[in-house]
Amino acid sequence: MKTFTKLVIFVLALSFMVFVTFFGRIPALRNTPIGALHKTLWVHIPNALSRLDERYTGGYVFRGSSRFFNILMHERHPTVVIFFAAIMIGGEYMFLPAAWPRLSSYFVKLTVIVTVALPYIFLYLACVSDPGFVTNETHSYHMSLYPYDYAIFHPGNVCRTCNILKPARSKHCSLCKRCVAKADHHCVFINSCVGYGNQHWFILLLASTALLTTYGGLLGVSLLSAAMRERYPLLHLWPSWKEGAFQFFGSWALAMEREVNLGATTLLSLLTSPMVWGLLAYTLYHVYRGFTTNESLKWSDWQEDIGDGYAFTRPLPGSRVKNRQIEPLCPRWPVEPQMVLMATTDGQPPTSSGRSLPGAGDWKRIQSIQEVENMYDLGFWDNLADVFVESYGFGVTKDDLPVDRLRRTRR
Ligand SMILES: [Zn+2]
Ligand SMILES: [Zn+2]
Repeated sequence: MKTFTKLVIFVLALSFMVFVTFFGRIPALRNTPIGALHKTLWVHIPNALSRLDERYTGGYVFRGSSRFFNILMHERHPTVVIFFAAIMIGGEYMFLPAAWPRLSSYFVKLTVIVTVALPYIFLYLACVSDPGFVTNETHSYHMSLYPYDYAIFHPGNVCRTCNILKPARSKHCSLCKRCVAKADHHCVFINSCVGYGNQHWFILLLASTALLTTYGGLLGVSLLSAAMRERYPLLHLWPSWKEGAFQFFGSWALAMEREVNLGATTLLSLLTSPMVWGLLAYTLYHVYRGFTTNESLKWSDWQEDIGDGYAFTRPLPGSRVKNRQIEPLCPRWPVEPQMVLMATTDGQPPTSSGRSLPGAGDWKRIQSIQEVENMYDLGFWDNLADVFVESYGFGVTKDDLPVDRLRRTRR
C-alpha cells in the first residue's frame, strides 16, 4: 500500500494546490474559505516567512532572493507555462505507453491523438498571439471596437505609462507593461494577457484541456477495470450495493498498485477535471453576462458604492454632441450608452463645480445594481461571436435594431 498511499497524497496535494491557486483569485470566491486559503498561501505565509527571516537573519534570505522574487512576481516569465506543459507531457509519458497497446480500434487511437494534441496547439496559439496590445499603430482600431459606457469606462482617460487614450474595455497590464484591449486578466498559464486578440484561443485551451482530463480519466478507469477483471474476475471496480466502501476502495488500491503509471495519471485526470470544467464554466458565464474578469471587479466595486448609497445616475441623451477626439465612432457596436453612472465620496449627488459632467437632468440615487445597464452584454450568442470573430459586425445597423436591444438592463 505504501506506493499507492504516497501517490494518492501527492496527487491530492498537487490538485489541491492547483485548485486554490486557480480559484482563490476569482472575485466571486473572494469572501469564501477558498479565497481565504488563497490569501493564506500567497500572502500570509510569505509575509510570515519574511518576518521570520527579518528576525533571525536580518532579512538575509529574502533580500538575497528579492531580485529573483521581483522577477518572479513582477515580470513576465514562462515558469508556469513550462510547469503546465510538463504536467501534461509527464502525464502522457506515463499514460500513453501503458494505454496505447490496449486501445481497441483505430478510431479510439485517433480520438486519443486528437485529444492529446489539441491543448498543445491552443496553448501555443494563446501564448504567441497578440492579446490586443494597444500601440500607436493599433490605437485607432482598438478605439473603434467598443463605445464608452459612461459607467465603468469613461472617455478621456489617459494611460500614464503608455501615454495613450485608454480605449473602452482596455486595461494597462503591469506585467506586459502595455495596455490591452478588452483586457480580461493576465494569465500565468499562458504567460500573457487574455484580451481581445486571444480570448478565443484561451477558451479553446480551457475546453480542450477539460476534454483531455475527462477523456484521460474515463479511458484510464475503463482500462484499469478491464485489466483487473482479467486478473481477478471476482473484484468489482464499480461500487455495488452488495459490497461496502472498504471493498470498493480496496479494489482500486489493488488496481493502482499493479498499474502505477496508469493509476496515477488516471487519478490526476479525474481530480483535475472538475477544476478545468469549473474554469471553463466560469469563463463562459462571463461571456454569457457580457463582461470580462476585469469588468466583473469594477461591477462589484459599483455594487458596494450602490449599497453605500454613493452611486448616482442620470440620462445620457442620444442627441448629445460627442467629442470625436476622445470618443470616436464605433460603427460595429449596435448599442449606445443611455445613462451616466457616477459615484461620490459624500453620498451627495455629483456637482459640476467648474467642469461639465456628462448627461442631462437630475441625478437619481441608484438603489440596486439591477437598475444599471451593461451595454457590452448583447446576449450570449452575440457575446460569443464577439469573442470568436474579429471585428464582428453583429449583422445589424443601429437603425433597424428593435427597441429592446437598444436598452438592455443588467440581469
Ligand atoms: Zn498602458
Ligand atoms: Zn499582461
